Amino acid sequence: MSAGARPASAARPAPPGLVDALCAIVGPERCLSRPAELVAWECDGLTLHGSPPAAVVLPRDKHEVARIVRACRRFGTPFVARGAGTGLSGGAIALEGGVVVECAKLDRILSVDVENRIAVVQPGVINAALSAAVRPHGLFYAPDPSSQLACTIGGNVAENAGGPHTLKYGTTTNHVLALELVLPDGELVKLGSATGFAPGPDLVGAVVGSEGTLGIVVEVTVRLVPLPEATETLLALFPDVVSACRAVGAVITSGLVPAAMEIVDRRTIEAVEASVYAAGLPRDAGAVLLVELDGPAAALPGQVERIRALCAAEGARVQRARDEAERERFWRARKGAFGAMGRVAPDLYVHDAVVPRAKLPEVLERVGAICDRLGLPLANVFHAGDGNLHPNISFDRRDPDELARVIAAGREILETCVAAGGVISGEHGIGIEKRDYMCLVFDESDLEAQRRLRAAFDPDGVCNPGKLLPAPRFCAEANPKARGYDRVPL
Ligand SMILES: Cc1cc2nc3c(=O)[nH]c(=O)nc-3n(C[C@H](O)[C@H](O)[C@H](O)COP(=O)(O)OP(=O)(O)OC[C@H]3O[C@@H](n4cnc5c(N)ncnc54)[C@H](O)[C@@H]3O)c2cc1C
Repeated sequence: MSAGARPASAARPAPPGLVDALCAIVGPERCLSRPAELVAWECDGLTLHGSPPAAVVLPRDKHEVARIVRACRRFGTPFVARGAGTGLSGGAIALEGGVVVECAKLDRILSVDVENRIAVVQPGVINAALSAAVRPHGLFYAPDPSSQLACTIGGNVAENAGGPHTLKYGTTTNHVLALELVLPDGELVKLGSATGFAPGPDLVGAVVGSEGTLGIVVEVTVRLVPLPEATETLLALFPDVVSACRAVGAVITSGLVPAAMEIVDRRTIEAVEASVYAAGLPRDAGAVLLVELDGPAAALPGQVERIRALCAAEGARVQRARDEAERERFWRARKGAFGAMGRVAPDLYVHDAVVPRAKLPEVLERVGAICDRLGLPLANVFHAGDGNLHPNISFDRRDPDELARVIAAGREILETCVAAGGVISGEHGIGIEKRDYMCLVFDESDLEAQRRLRAAFDPDGVCNPGKLLPAPRFCAEANPKARGYDRVPL
């Protein structure tokens, strides 16, 4: 890898005739192919990886998507769906000179059924826009990634996105009832049922989290949830991250189920307070724990007092949001944390892994030791209630030595989480970033089963190739002793 460069694949021009065929479907103004036009689609939120597409097309309806896919097939060109490009694992970049099918213009909420609490949306609908649209009906869409002002429902479905409120409400997969998909051969199919009950295997479940490798999602039927009667938001200020993690464990053990429990460490507090997201968080706190409770108004005061006592037992001072404006300020600070960290250095590597909640204190200490040893600045902001860590490393990718240390730290962090009984991604997906780390958690036969599922949808491997799964036998060759690969017959 050369200094400052992404490990990018070289530009590969579209085969003769493909761009004309795509322009004939969407019109020249929604079909981009000049190199200068394509720069914005070279990478997603993970700037470490980049690859120029052969072309970018912006369809407006599902029939255009199907025709684009069929055109790509005719020219033997791979394709990849893209939403807002906020993904953090390189999932939406086009490898091998593929075509990007940008779904942002499929942005209509097609119907809202208040009685049955469902909505049917196109994939380019912005996550926060859906909740805003159904709020007058007393409803909301529960999965709330911190990127919700930008990211799309299609991208959320592909990544099985989570968010701060996953602790109580679950991830995207718990809220998707049915999907319409353009298969990799251009056929339109409907999966699942708006009732939530569909006979046969759970194909919706297979598509959610498949990172755009099984087809292009063109319609999503989602579950809506009633707005809670009351909400209480607490800010607990701890001397350090480890005591905050212990308080999280104590709250869950007590039987309480907060809607969210989020930890922000000191380095992140400093970055947030120096940014437009500043919320008056005390810079002398070692860590802040944001706890949200929601439910019947009569039930909350008692829960607030129990949480206060459990946090105080770990050395925290606890304050309560006095009104909606203060609550929103606390959340703006939390949800703006990655953006604020982005000001600290030219590059930010946002890691994503999950460990059993009880292991949080121990794993965080180890992650801190890894970054100290490698001389890298570490900041933590994470979904503590779920054990979903986001160690953030600020760096400058133009410095080859620093870049090498960042990559080494990433691998060690993942190995540490897996050794603690965790997994290599909670919500940001595998993409290209962690494709070759899949062997830390799956053996060759697990991966082969996943390859066979993918081949059932995409036998020719044209839909977002090079993502999610390592090449066959990569794991065995790269790491033959891990999880008994040396015993797998090759
Ligand atoms: C500041 C910040 C905060 C974030 N916080 C969170 C968080 O709290 N929780 C969380 O889960 N994630 C978070 N993310 C990551 C990211 O926002 C999510 O992964 C999100 O779901 C990506 O949506 P997108 O529309 O940007 O998708 P993209 O980045 O455009 O694409 C992501 C993947 O989805 C596929 N895809 C997109 N559209 C379709 C479609 N129509 N059909 C099939 N496949 C499709 C792409 O091929 C790609 O593999 C954060 C990112 C940032 C930058």
